[in-house]
Amino acid sequence: MLHARPLLPLLIGALLAAGGCSVGKAQDGRKADPAATKPGPEGFRAWVTAFRAEALKEGITARTLRRAFRGVRYDPRVIRFDNYQPEFVKPVGAYVAARTAPDTIRRGQALMRKHGRLLRRMGRKYGVDPAYIVAIWRLESGYGANFGDMDVIRSLATLAYAGRRQGFWRGELIAALRILQRGDIPRRQLVGSWAGAMGHTQFIPSTFLKRGVDGDGDGKVDLWRSLPDVFASTANYLAEAKWKRGLPWGYEIILPRQFPYELADGRTRMSVGDWAKKHGIKAARGRLRHPAEEAAIVLPSGYRGPAFIVFRNYRSILAYNNALAYALTVGILAERLKGAPPVRQAWPVGDRLLNRDEKTELQNRLIKLGFDPGPVDGKVGPTTKKAIRAFQKSKGYPADGYANFTLLTRVRQASP
Ligand code: CA
Repeated sequence: MLHARPLLPLLIGALLAAGGCSVGKAQDGRKADPAATKPGPEGFRAWVTAFRAEALKEGITARTLRRAFRGVRYDPRVIRFDNYQPEFVKPVGAYVAARTAPDTIRRGQALMRKHGRLLRRMGRKYGVDPAYIVAIWRLESGYGANFGDMDVIRSLATLAYAGRRQGFWRGELIAALRILQRGDIPRRQLVGSWAGAMGHTQFIPSTFLKRGVDGDGDGKVDLWRSLPDVFASTANYLAEAKWKRGLPWGYEIILPRQFPYELADGRTRMSVGDWAKKHGIKAARGRLRHPAEEAAIVLPSGYRGPAFIVFRNYRSILAYNNALAYALTVGILAERLKGAPPVRQAWPVGDRLLNRDEKTELQNRLIKLGFDPGPVDGKVGPTTKKAIRAFQKSKGYPADGYANFTLLTRVRQASP
């Protein structure tokens, strides 16, 4: 889903997974009946009044609330973003290519030179490779070119009132109020994406409070205007996510033709040396590096596309944003900023991914064929992938668990 929305806050998935999702109070039964009329702008003012009374009890002062909510109205654009569902998602290869183009790399390298001393200092302090800080900076805000100008209180209040996960947004709204109250930034500067992701790093408010760091020593965390704060906060986030010094995210490998693809699930781990000894993996270029390191293998576009061995630092990037395409792109871009060559194996051409209805159809058909894809929710998670692998094995196809249109066609053909 992160492919089709230019303003999509890249952090949301990770932050939901990272525990930012505290379920708030029941919202007067609105969610009980999805067919009921959606709350419209007319009830917003009353909702804000009730919310302010609750926020007071949670330690937000009347003064902060007055400053925060002055002139704040319901914002229908935010609800449109929240409900937006892309018809088709772009393949991973296109996502990577768009973010590792020569111009992106040149600009990133120029910024690494320009801010070299600062980046090296933050890298040393947090034990993180500065190239990864810069790569995340690129993916979050285009090296700071675009971090959104929507009023964060207005967006979050609208979402807490009428969004799809009201409890989560309510928690973020309280966090945004705490940022205001702490005095890091003036009220008018509290702007971000439609979902309240803020500044160069696109931190949502709860992450801002938990991981934001004052890098320039002025006593405030300013992720809009202070690059020392931005770099320190990103490095701190990776360090908290157990970044291991001196290790890359992973690197490209070549799998032998008879490789048991069901092991390339991003979870099965053994040392690089064991992967080579037992399953014949090779580096795409040169020799296998970090042979003693525990690693998993990922096939972002199935067995027909490039393969990568990934270390624990790949998981640290996933903590930042829990999407394979994101972690992969950060890793590839960071290494390219340091002069590594492009991905060697070609991404599959004409790869057509499934939309939500097709994923639902796939799950229903797998059940009818006797496989267990987990709950039918139109999402291809680990359980559905496992069921896909079992189907592929039963038919003699490479068991890569990759859900594209070719797979759906095969499942349709196998269906009674
Ligand atoms: Ca600061």
